[in-house]
Amino acid sequence: MKSHAQCFDDRVAALANRVPAALRFHARIAYDLGWTYRPGGDELFRAIEPQLWESSGRNAVQLLSTAPLSCLHRAAADDGLVGRAEAMSRALDEIRSAPFSPGPRVAFFCAEFALHQSLAIYGGGLGVLAGDLLKEAADAGVDLVGVGLLYHRGYFRQRLDRSGRQHEYWTEASKELLPILPVLDDSGAPLAVEVFIRGHAVRALIWRVQVGRASLFLLDTDVEENGSVDRFITAQLYVADRAFRLMQYALLGIGGVRALRAMGIERDVFHLNEGHPALAAVELARGAMAPGEELRAAVARVRDKLVFTTHTPVAAGNEHYEDDELARVIHDVPLAEVLTLGRGEEGKFGMTELALSVSRSANAVSAVHGGVARAMWKRPIGHVTNGVHLPTWMAPPMRALLDRYLGEGWSRRASDPATWRAVDEIPDGELWAVRNELRSTLVDFVRVRSERDRLARGEPIDYVEAAARTFDPRVIVVGFARRVASYKRLHLLIHDPARALGLLSAAHPIQVLLAGKAHPQDEPAKTFIERVFTLKGDPVVGRRVAYLEDYDLAMAQTLVAGCDVWVNIPRPPLEASGTSGMKAALCGGLNLAVLDGWWSEGYDGANGWAIASNGDDARDATALYDLLEKQVVPEFHARDEHDVPRAFVARIRASLKSIGPRFCASRMLADYARQVWPATAPLR
Ligand SMILES: *Cc1c(COP(=O)(O)O)cnc(C)c1O
Repeated sequence: MKSHAQCFDDRVAALANRVPAALRFHARIAYDLGWTYRPGGDELFRAIEPQLWESSGRNAVQLLSTAPLSCLHRAAADDGLVGRAEAMSRALDEIRSAPFSPGPRVAFFCAEFALHQSLAIYGGGLGVLAGDLLKEAADAGVDLVGVGLLYHRGYFRQRLDRSGRQHEYWTEASKELLPILPVLDDSGAPLAVEVFIRGHAVRALIWRVQVGRASLFLLDTDVEENGSVDRFITAQLYVADRAFRLMQYALLGIGGVRALRAMGIERDVFHLNEGHPALAAVELARGAMAPGEELRAAVARVRDKLVFTTHTPVAAGNEHYEDDELARVIHDVPLAEVLTLGRGEEGKFGMTELALSVSRSANAVSAVHGGVARAMWKRPIGHVTNGVHLPTWMAPPMRALLDRYLGEGWSRRASDPATWRAVDEIPDGELWAVRNELRSTLVDFVRVRSERDRLARGEPIDYVEAAARTFDPRVIVVGFARRVASYKRLHLLIHDPARALGLLSAAHPIQVLLAGKAHPQDEPAKTFIERVFTLKGDPVVGRRVAYLEDYDLAMAQTLVAGCDVWVNIPRPPLEASGTSGMKAALCGGLNLAVLDGWWSEGYDGANGWAIASNGDDARDATALYDLLEKQVVPEFHARDEHDVPRAFVARIRASLKSIGPRFCASRMLADYARQVWPATAPLR
């Protein structure tokens, strides 16, 4: 096999060939997604052609490949820009060649990874979690590789019509323009693996995504040798047809293990992140089977290498399959034995059941979720609470402020509460100035986006311009953006329309930002968006509420950074963890949330607001309105002589100090490295 470093250099050289020589450092940076979260990374490319930068989804490979020559030459003549790119490129080279720290070698299997918006192979929180863990492992030098699928049509894109009806569409990625590297054999031909699906061998190529020291391997069946159906296996994430989804899971689990084997990558731990890749265990066992041995015996032997994380107590996230459905993706091993391993309570085969029965340990993703999962699956299940990758999610102005007060290299000590003590030394005015800046940036973004979305929906002109005219950087912004799943209860916001409208039109009003995609098959969730749209007739709604279409990672970064209050109102106990509130907290946003998932651990009485919910919609909506009217808005407006809301800022300070160290991915990575991955881990 050609070395990964050689494949990297070859691909970079091919791209560098197409740009002026001075931009060769840009070409080198483009293939290491480490740039995406290093200060100054974004500006290196934005400077070349800002519009193309945005329209390409901030895809550096695409920008360099398609920008007009005049722009490339202008950038090449900018010595400052070239110098900054050279420094970044050298820093990334150094990180890539640094040795891994000692410890178990981990393969992290997941159906989605959210590393950057230019690589649309994620749907929501699960992908963000996987992407953030991979980045954190890369930063810490933990020897972890990701294993996933390259969906060339991604997750769906969202459009809303005037009634709030969601329409889905898909865009085809050009693989040669993605920041991915082919895995090649000695002769330079693509390395391929085969998986038996529906009675014949399906071929899959392996792509690699470089993130600093870490690699993410992605399988891709969209190759000429395969028929159209087989090529479609890796087309769409969470595709509607369940037979296709099962094929994807077989490819991910079985194909993933084969890919690692084909590349000679040995692992001590195979981490099944959510049930989707559970068939990896069957393939590992098959590889370890002695002639005449039962699969069960081999599974018992590989069990010590397998760990499992469950992410959802929602039924749709724990699918079951008929025996004959599973038969289509099982080959070379006795079907009956596989079925037995994954047999659930109702007698049907489930990937979660399989993952639980083949793994040496299982964990949930928050303390309350641990209890829920134990009751649900009737097994010992521990928990590692989720965290978010700080360099990705802390907005640059907040990062710059903390860099000045928290000391050299503080972000590498982010999981130590002592690191955050110096937040107390930041003057109120400086913290508040950062919040004002972030809100302002968000308001600019909303003005542009709301106008663009409304034009595309064919709205009347006054409505088109309403938010663009009136969204105000001095008015508190309340945000609610996430997947629109039923249990997340978007509709609670308008449970009492009169009170909701009252908040928008009060002397001290609120502005509300909404965003999120409903799963194409989740009809009830889709109607929630339509219900929100029924209030559009009131002019104040057009001015103070915007539903931004096509929520993705880039939009999430802007929203979590700029919203003053981040609302989460799930029906407990269905929010396993939730992570967007952690992101908001890192930017100085305050959480107002139901005590479920991570917030039941994070809330301490002083660092945000909480709703102790019993799941009753009317009661929880009342609690939400009460908090906004009586506490949040008044506190936002209680200003001192310098126009600083002292109590509100005190809450921000408490939030940063309490949430920063506990819900960053470095704490999460340390937990996995101590409690889950070692052979002697306490969590078994
Ligand atoms: C963080 C994130 C999520 C997860 O948000 P939750 O609050 O956990 O539901 C979903 N989508 C995107 C794009 C995100 O960045």
